[in-house]
Amino acid sequence: MSQANLDFSESTTSSRGQYRGRFAPSPTGPLHIGSLVTALASWLDARVHGGTWLVRIEDIDFQRNVPGADRDILATLDVLGLIPDEAPQWQSTHLSRFEQALEQLQANGSLYPCGCTRREIADSVTSIDANGHVRHQTLIYPGTCRNGLHGRPPRAWRVRVPDADAATICFNDRWQGTQCQNLAETVGDFVLKRADGMWAYQIAVVVDDATQGITDVVRGADLLDSTPRQIYLQQLLGLPALRYLHVPVVVNADGEKLSKQTGARAINRSQPLAALTEAAQHLGLDIRAGDVEEFYRDAVPAWANRLARLTTAA
Ligand code: GLU
Repeated sequence: MSQANLDFSESTTSSRGQYRGRFAPSPTGPLHIGSLVTALASWLDARVHGGTWLVRIEDIDFQRNVPGADRDILATLDVLGLIPDEAPQWQSTHLSRFEQALEQLQANGSLYPCGCTRREIADSVTSIDANGHVRHQTLIYPGTCRNGLHGRPPRAWRVRVPDADAATICFNDRWQGTQCQNLAETVGDFVLKRADGMWAYQIAVVVDDATQGITDVVRGADLLDSTPRQIYLQQLLGLPALRYLHVPVVVNADGEKLSKQTGARAINRSQPLAALTEAAQHLGLDIRAGDVEEFYRDAVPAWANRLARLTTAA
């Protein structure tokens, strides 16, 4: 297989280093307060840094896409005044980029085909404790296919992570502080291309952030534990390091992350100021504005102050 390095021609239009942020919703339903908080935080952070703000529709999990949700999200952002500085992109329109990255990883020996079913992996990581109770652990891939498929057909593609003594990835999150994760002990070799042929979020997000010249990722803290995997892929692919800021996620009364599944209601487009004010509150910004224009005028310096307080607290 030929060595194919990723093409960054798209990102050379802006000088690297100049702030470029993004909001990357999956079109699984309308924008709700949880996703609005992320959108607003990434927009404010781009504004405070005099940067560029992009929107990327992450629509590569075809089973989860809801028809029309992409347009609905963009229309709501528009009504709220969260308007991207460049035309939105749809991840599904450039799948060949992910294939190129996969080839690059294959050429440097980081990748292997896996024939395990989800069931087999679940069985092999289930252990019996001293009292005879079955303990279900998170699905850390036990490395069954690392040294060959044992005659089984390939199903998915996995990237090899280093052995535990060399697998710790640390990064400094601008909101959450220093974060470290041992990839071998917490995830194991992870899937980049699934058995159903779909691309995994981890590879798609890394490739697209690099191709679009993103410098700063601002998103929900539910993705904090994905970040070390993404940093590891950036390192393997020779891509630039990014800065990260993970905002606390909005939870419902039961403490669950707000999503369509946990009963999040769509943002009411007829009340943009109310929606923005509520989103700002979740970020610790107390904005009392008379209209949307005034809201943004006050919210940008308020975000700068919020960041300054985070830095002082660290
Ligand atoms: N598409 C992901 C989501 O909606 C977010 C990806 C990201 O910001 O890295 O949860």
